[in-house]
Amino acid sequence: MMVPESHPRYKSLLNRDRIVEAFESGVLAKGGMIAHGRGETFDYLIGESTTDAALNSIKVSAALLVLAENPVISVNGNSVALAKDEFVELAKELNGKIEVNLFYRTTEREEKIKDVFESDINGGIVLLGIDNADKQIPGIDHLRGKVSESGIYTSDVVLVPLEDGDRAEALVKMGKTVIAIDLNPLSRTARKSTISIIDELTRCIPLITEYVREYKKMDRAELLKIVENYDNEENLRNILNLISKRLTSVDLI
Ligand code: ATP
Ligand code: MG
Repeated sequence: MMVPESHPRYKSLLNRDRIVEAFESGVLAKGGMIAHGRGETFDYLIGESTTDAALNSIKVSAALLVLAENPVISVNGNSVALAKDEFVELAKELNGKIEVNLFYRTTEREEKIKDVFESDINGGIVLLGIDNADKQIPGIDHLRGKVSESGIYTSDVVLVPLEDGDRAEALVKMGKTVIAIDLNPLSRTARKSTISIIDELTRCIPLITEYVREYKKMDRAELLKIVENYDNEENLRNILNLISKRLTSVDLI
């Protein structure tokens, strides 16, 4: 579908198109479409823009990614459908590692996603989690727990857009710093992760990349200052307060 740029819901419709296309091409599972709808609802509630609280967690996340020894960006069908190029840009500023992590893992879907990244693999991206996912996250069932040795398994910081709550929790238990991107501040993922960016994927990834570029010029002591007082529970409370204030004061007409 061609969406005219002048349409008031242009961005949202464009994202829907990408989701539908990804489903039709086999990159996205049916459940991924439902997850997208849940995200859209929460985006209305936060006002469809990056809040101050989200910006703060974006900055802290960028600093943690720069400080990390083995940062890994985990992607699934939704994230590939919506922001593949944005993830590649971010990975290139780090160590190039992107790991495919699917809730509904099938060989067919793995191959489809590999195809999507083909030109990036030649351009310096290390795509993990398909041919080499021979390690297991403790406590997670076999297919969902598959990770690669040089990627998520040995990572110290993992960026997980739209992760499911179980895996986020298991990754934290493994001692990793888990940065989730999730529009729902009440989800288990948002509550169990170390840092939860309550923002829309396509809006916040370019911002993370921008801060990573800036922070790469800073020394460790300065970066540690950015991350030191972060409190994720406070972050989630700030977002919930913002939503409740919006709901009682929003202009309806
Ligand atoms: P829980 O985290 O409570 O275990 P879940 O992970 O099983 O729940 P899903 O609906 O599968 O629940 O998760 C999808 C999550 O991704 C939702 O919380 C939704 O708000 C979020 N989401 C969907 N699309 C986007 C997007 N474009 N950007 C950011 N978050 C999104
Ligand atoms: Mg979740």
